[in-house]
Amino acid sequence: MPEQPGKNAIEVRGVRKVFGTGENQVAALDTVSVSIRENEFFTLLGPSGCGKTTLLRLIAGFDFPTAGEILLHGQDIAPLPPYKRPVNTVFQSYALFPHMTVAQNIGFGLEMLGKPKAEIEARVAQMLKLVKMEALKARRTSQISGGQQQRVALARALAPQPKVLLLDEPLSALDYKLRKEMQIELKRLQNETGITFIFVTHDQEEALTMSDRIAVMSAGKILQVGTPRDIYDRPAERFVADFIGETNFLPGTVLSKQAGVATVKFASSATISAGYPEGFNPTGEVTLVVRPEHADLVPDPAKGTITGTLSNIVYFGTDTHYHVKLDGGGENFIVRHQNSRSSAVIYETGAKVGIQFEEDAARVLKD
Ligand code: ATP
Repeated sequence: MPEQPGKNAIEVRGVRKVFGTGENQVAALDTVSVSIRENEFFTLLGPSGCGKTTLLRLIAGFDFPTAGEILLHGQDIAPLPPYKRPVNTVFQSYALFPHMTVAQNIGFGLEMLGKPKAEIEARVAQMLKLVKMEALKARRTSQISGGQQQRVALARALAPQPKVLLLDEPLSALDYKLRKEMQIELKRLQNETGITFIFVTHDQEEALTMSDRIAVMSAGKILQVGTPRDIYDRPAERFVADFIGETNFLPGTVLSKQAGVATVKFASSATISAGYPEGFNPTGEVTLVVRPEHADLVPDPAKGTITGTLSNIVYFGTDTHYHVKLDGGGENFIVRHQNSRSSAVIYETGAKVGIQFEEDAARVLKD
């Protein structure tokens, strides 16, 4: 799907953030630039310690960049303290006031801003409705469930109508089922309010299902920005392919390339032609990336692009994973077949098999 251009809500330009001094120096953000559009559900995705929270804190104004600038609707926000920024944050811990009621918690930010009582009441009522908490408005937040606390935290952050809502792993304290429900709820809230959401998570599935666009981060850098489909189907780097979803990596050598397609040879002497990311010039040793569901198993090895021996079959209910020890050596290659009620069991471990790829399934990346 082509990306829709839109106005930028936030522009992060050449932002660097260094903590500590001397030998203890850590570049939590190593010169990051990214634009986040108005009304976008934008996710910062990456492993622990990659700099996600640091970037959120700089946007919120809880901390300052060592270098670079952050613009909100084209304006440099450096001079604005956090409370003057049209930005609000939902923390992982919710940070609710346990002795206050649900309604008092939601109205708290508006009271601090000195809004008139009638306006606060109207807005709180609207927020209670938005997060479906009207029935519990008089309860203390110490007397409601984790999922309900999460809704209150969201309502409180949305009440002052921020232009941008920052969400730092807001669902991580919830159990699996509730997390799934809240993912849908968050998406709905973002759609209904039209507020730009910047969502931090280390959960790739959460990022893929909720986001309009994702920035994949590693070690203080943004490696790739794109729609979930872009990131999943066209990873720009090995790290991105590895971090998101399951992937097979095949080492190979480039034989030739033409018009964005490289022909790669494997140890088994099979060859595959595949595309590669813009800006990458494949030569010498490379890695070929293939998603398990984009490969097919065929019982006749002669019909496979590559061949091997079935070493393991793992049944997952919805699908089955076939682990294949490739003839050229290297790691097991995994093929995923979706199960249907009529799926026949035709493979047994120890069988010689072939692996075929769907068109465009493979992608050549830097070794
Ligand atoms: P997590 O998912 O675990 O919250 P993260 O991706 O949000 O991780 P950050 O919290 O942004 O990562 O941290 C990035 C790096 O900066 C880490 O190496 C961290 O140890 C370091 N760091 C963060 N805050 C500080 C600080 N106040 N002082 C020193 N180092 C810090």
